[in-house]
Amino acid sequence: MLITCPYCGPRDLAEFAYQGDGNRTRPDPASMDQDAWNAYVYDRHNPAGAHHEFWQHSGGCRAHLAVTRDTLTHAITSVAFARELGHRRSLRRDRPERGG
Ligand SMILES: [Zn+2]
Repeated sequence: MLITCPYCGPRDLAEFAYQGDGNRTRPDPASMDQDAWNAYVYDRHNPAGAHHEFWQHSGGCRAHLAVTRDTLTHAITSVAFARELGHRRSLRRDRPERGG
């Protein structure tokens, strides 16, 4: 399977790391809605067909990508920078910032 990175061009799947389901929406961090947090953490779509996913070109430019992949054929119909689609918030991790 090849993924076409917008920076690097077509590259083998081995250069990429799956970053998760692109359909999730993180609840407000101040929210105490347990059902919303449970759904965010545990519920996943498992469609037979087009699926929105996040991938990182970890073996290349390290860009985070928003990919639409058909789960039946693995055909990729779109690739864009995740930041351009407004998904940055979904990629954020709870980890300390690196200095300098
Ligand atoms: Zn790249």
